[in-house]
Amino acid sequence: MSSARVVFPKPPGLIAVLLVFVCLLEGAIVLSRLCGETPAIWVANGVLLGALLVVPSQRFVGYLLICLLADFALNEGRGDHLLLSFIIAVYKLAEVAIAYGLLRGRFGARPDPARPGALVRLAVTALTAPVFPAIFATDARFYLADEAFAKNLVDWYAASALGFMIATPLILALFRPRRPDPPAAKQFFSAFRYFAFLAAVCVVVFSQSRYPLRFLVFPPLLLIASRRSLLETAAATLFAALTILGFTVAGRGPISLLAQAGVLSEGEKLRIAQGFVFILGLCALALAARTEQTRRLREILAARQARLRESERRYRALADNSTDAIYRMAIDGRRLYVSPAAQELFGFSPEEQVGRHWREEVHPEDWPAVKVELRKLAAGSDTVVFSYRRRCKNGRFVWVETRVRAVRDRESGVVGEYIASSRDISRQKSTEEKLNAANAALVALAATDGLTGIANRRSFDEALEREWRRGQREQTALALLMIDVDHFKPFNDFYGHLVGDDCLRRLAATIKGCLHRPGDLAARFGGEEFAVLLPTTDAVGALEIAERIHDAVAALDIVHEVIPLGRISLSIGIASDGPERYHSANALLQTADRALYLAKHEGRNRSVIAVIDDHGGAAGHDIAKTR
Ligand code: GH3
Ligand code: MG
Ligand code: MG
Repeated sequence: MSSARVVFPKPPGLIAVLLVFVCLLEGAIVLSRLCGETPAIWVANGVLLGALLVVPSQRFVGYLLICLLADFALNEGRGDHLLLSFIIAVYKLAEVAIAYGLLRGRFGARPDPARPGALVRLAVTALTAPVFPAIFATDARFYLADEAFAKNLVDWYAASALGFMIATPLILALFRPRRPDPPAAKQFFSAFRYFAFLAAVCVVVFSQSRYPLRFLVFPPLLLIASRRSLLETAAATLFAALTILGFTVAGRGPISLLAQAGVLSEGEKLRIAQGFVFILGLCALALAARTEQTRRLREILAARQARLRESERRYRALADNSTDAIYRMAIDGRRLYVSPAAQELFGFSPEEQVGRHWREEVHPEDWPAVKVELRKLAAGSDTVVFSYRRRCKNGRFVWVETRVRAVRDRESGVVGEYIASSRDISRQKSTEEKLNAANAALVALAATDGLTGIANRRSFDEALEREWRRGQREQTALALLMIDVDHFKPFNDFYGHLVGDDCLRRLAATIKGCLHRPGDLAARFGGEEFAVLLPTTDAVGALEIAERIHDAVAALDIVHEVIPLGRISLSIGIASDGPERYHSANALLQTADRALYLAKHEGRNRSVIAVIDDHGGAAGHDIAKTR
């Protein structure tokens, strides 16, 4: 583990720490010599503890040893007792080492004075770390230099504890990992005003010995703690501590007042002053830590709000500039947001649509289909896409395609609202409709005979097959008429092909006009031959239709001068039977053809009903109707 390694400190850091440490040590000694007292606050150890806490932990032992030597050398240089100087230096540094161990914690994290609980831990450390070093050092002084035990013990302990409490936070605040931005000139001036106010109050209150107004120090210091940074508060606290203790040791200020009045002894006066400073520092630093936390929270909140505003702006820009109409809808279908594109597409302004139920604009005929799609959403689908006619502000309906998406709560998965986007597909729809009509026309054309306009051979074949199957399935009869124009070749030859064509057209229309049931079909079979399909019709019914056709053609009275009859006539072969008699559609066709042949053979202009034998073939004719 790297933390277990001992690394010698780097020169710049070492020189800085040494310089500060030595100056503070020397300053404290000089001061205490001047006023004939031991120092009331041991700032050097507090600063060293702070420095050790912020340098990498591997360098801790190195710094400690160098400072030990410096302390020893300073004491030695003053001509103090050699062994005593060494022992005193060892205990001083042991005190720092104990405090370091108590504060550093198990994970070696650098304590942040702004974190909750850090100050309480520092206060407890300040009060406990000096206990044993103070006892042992005072003991040594008692034996080696014959100095008073009790007073020295309390002096050492109180000065050390106060040093840790007041000086350490300043160093920790100075070297915090997240340093605030360096103060601008305005900031500096503002900080200076607070400091000047504090300095003035401290000096005025503690330089006079008339009024017991020490509590007046609290307001300026707490003002700094509540308005300024933790670093400034720590610096202000140290300044206030030094001023208060300095004046008090020099016999001035509200606490000295009590000693002068004989209420307190000199020793008690100093302890009271130290206790006052300890509490003052604790209060100020705790308030500064709280202020800093609030400030941090405010910064986090402001950053989050800025991010939220930015993302809102981005999404709104997307929705506002989309060419599709975008909606946010509540679970009940009421619109919560409508994008501006809706107005361009449908005429309604967003304000007119927000709060309205979207059903109001769906064409009543399309609503049932839309409802089916919405049920899918309710059943758990995430997205549905459907088309319907939507009413515009001008009352017209346009075709739209709408995509609706369920927005679920991330944790519970419950649908909170819907997002829908709609686009106008009227053009697409009208193209689709045209295409469908063209397709239908094409299908009809493919099934129609070009000359006569009735069904062609192909659709007759399909219909015959279809109806034959149905007859089998439903056990019903099927009748077929095969029709041939009599003596058409001479007609053509005499009158010409165009007149022949016209004749065929009139015959086709006439035959078709004789059929009344929806399932009946008249088709051009080929050349001058026609076929008529009559579902669920027996021989008697088929003969009746055949007669109707003969009569209608006779009524047409198309002149045919070449033949004795003098007008166009037809021969009709009829096949009809129950499904048990014929075993294929083709057999039915052949039978009708056979009957037609017989009708021609018998003299034309007549109908012949074929009789089907047991094998489905034509056995002969039954009834031949001569006209
Ligand atoms: P029958 O059937 O009475 O025995 O005598 P037919 O003269 O009708 O004899 P056939 O069936 O051999 O003659 C068919 C004639 O029909 C041949 C052709 O001139 C004529 N025809 C066939 N298709 C057309 C057509 O599309 N237009 C015209 N104008 N004539 C056609
Ligand atoms: Mg023919
Ligand atoms: Mg013919």
